[in-house]
Amino acid sequence: MNKFEALGIEPNIVKAITELGFETPTPIQEQAIPVLLKEEKDLVGLAQTGTGKTAAFGLPLIQTVDFNSRNTQALILCPTRELCLQITKDLQSYTKYTQGANIVAIYGGASIVNQLRDVKRGAQIVVGTPGRMVDMINRKGVTLKTVIRVVLDEADEMLNMGFKEDLDMILSETPDQKCTWLFSATMPREVETIARKYMSEPFQITVGKRNEGNVNIEHVYYVVQSRDRYASLKRIVDFYPDIFGIVFCRTKAETQEVAEKLIRDGYNADSLHGDLSQAQRDQVMKRYRSRTLQVLVATDVAARGIDVDDVTHVINYNLPDEIENYTHRSGRTARAGKTGISIVILNIREVGKIRMLEKIIGKKFTKAKVPGGSEVCEKQLFALISKIHDVEVNEAAIEKYLPQIYSQLKDLTKEELIKRFVSDEFNRFLEYYKNAPDLNVENRSLERPERTSDRFNQRGDTRADEPRSRVPDRDANMTRFFINVGEMDGLDKGGLLRFICDTSNLEGSNIGRIDIKSSFSFFDAAKEVEDFLMNAFKDQTFKGRSVRIDPSNGSGGAGYRDNNSFGKGKRPYGGGGSGGDSSWKKKSYGGGGGGYSDGGSSSGGGYRKRSYGNEEKPRERSSEPPVDGNTFSDRKSKFGKRS
Ligand code: AMP
Repeated sequence: MNKFEALGIEPNIVKAITELGFETPTPIQEQAIPVLLKEEKDLVGLAQTGTGKTAAFGLPLIQTVDFNSRNTQALILCPTRELCLQITKDLQSYTKYTQGANIVAIYGGASIVNQLRDVKRGAQIVVGTPGRMVDMINRKGVTLKTVIRVVLDEADEMLNMGFKEDLDMILSETPDQKCTWLFSATMPREVETIARKYMSEPFQITVGKRNEGNVNIEHVYYVVQSRDRYASLKRIVDFYPDIFGIVFCRTKAETQEVAEKLIRDGYNADSLHGDLSQAQRDQVMKRYRSRTLQVLVATDVAARGIDVDDVTHVINYNLPDEIENYTHRSGRTARAGKTGISIVILNIREVGKIRMLEKIIGKKFTKAKVPGGSEVCEKQLFALISKIHDVEVNEAAIEKYLPQIYSQLKDLTKEELIKRFVSDEFNRFLEYYKNAPDLNVENRSLERPERTSDRFNQRGDTRADEPRSRVPDRDANMTRFFINVGEMDGLDKGGLLRFICDTSNLEGSNIGRIDIKSSFSFFDAAKEVEDFLMNAFKDQTFKGRSVRIDPSNGSGGAGYRDNNSFGKGKRPYGGGGSGGDSSWKKKSYGGGGGGYSDGGSSSGGGYRKRSYGNEEKPRERSSEPPVDGNTFSDRKSKFGKRS
């Protein structure tokens, strides 16, 4: 007997899912299906995406719905358009052999008129995102009075995205007599509150441990200096030539910037974030799904609901603001029983967060070393070898050239030939990585290890977990600034930090040590933001007093030694072409003829804009066909032309 039939699933549904390749129920299906079929019970399921939870609720749901009626009997709410479409598609395929089934997706960013029409035709199951559902209800386009099943999928995400009020409104439209099935990857207090409010004595299923991440995910972290974040990302991507990955950034601006740098450096990457139009996002996702795109750089919100199987790596370029979101990010890999790696790139100040993450996922992280140049070269070499081994030869096209090719190469042995063909590509990588520095933080020179910044201690953040001796108070990346306001102006360290951040729109992480004096103060800021700060502070006042800042090499506190390079040939600010926005203009090191370049590490140095109001418009997408494949040949651009 078929294993799904044994759980109570009807033959016509079994036939449909067998065609999808479902032979053995996943653990959540095994636990949920019999209960949901037999009992009129509420359910709370703690499960990640990729565990088969759509079928876990979808199959019993379909079986409970009367498809002879045109009433809306089931409502599935989920956080994103992508997930909404995915669930709809899944349910439609489960009902391939079920007569009269009409399952309709209701989501924003598409014509509401068409959706109103689809529902009017008699949708027994409506799958919706909360915002658009509220619109539909307000337009009286959908009646929920006949609903007997409500599914809240990825409830934690819906709450994270601020849909609580919408959920309340939608659920108030449904009858009291119904079953509510709630699924969530994590169980923060907000979700528990929802469960308590809308459910009575729910049956609970936990796949894996509570809040535990998928067991097939290996969690790895790298500790680098902030300025090396981008270079480390490239190393990691280079180290995994067959990577099919998602890089998560914290903001839209960062996402766009990292993607643009990767593209410029010859990687097969693109960005996905909320400033792209729906059509642009669809296009990016289409390319990613079809694997014409190798690396997707995304914000949390934009990546929600990404249901692409086979993602090999999730890279946290920066950790999410809501640390719980790490589970959602890492859950994009190791789907459907596959394995995957979730990577976190950290600076030393953030290392303590690993412990928090370990608690959340119930699993240990492995500390890894950013691969060195020779390791990357070796990896790429063997990827090249297998690529050559598996290359498809176009016999017809190459045939006419072969005699001349053989003749030109006749003096070379097979061994010589192999060496030369391989070296043609390998040399580029060798050359590129020739002077590549070790990016691991313990191997980078860390200046001034003796003091930690008070600011970080005040924040009570992770620095308490770090060995003090490792924490660079200021490094060569910091510029010391003088500012003509101080204690007399009613400022303490926190107040000055707020003032600097509010005036410049920079994040606090760009600012280092602060020393408050009576009528003036000193603060450290990431070198990359120096020009930006100078501009931001032009014509500023504080409590009616005109404010002036100056880069300074003076001593800000007792015994303070200034290590930064200001005054040693650095460009003067406010003139000589260094004003304006030059703070985020890209720099490249080594430059020119194929030397090691981090492809512009200006943002890696800690520069982040705080608001997106003035974020650049998304660039026009190229109409050129996307570059296929990966590794060497796609990235020739970064190695420069061969002589
Ligand atoms: P989900 O967690 O519902 O997003 O499912 C993750 C992936 O697993 C999807 O591609 C499903 O089609 C697939 N899947 C779900 N249940 C099974 C099953 N019993 N056997 C094989 N694949 C499944």
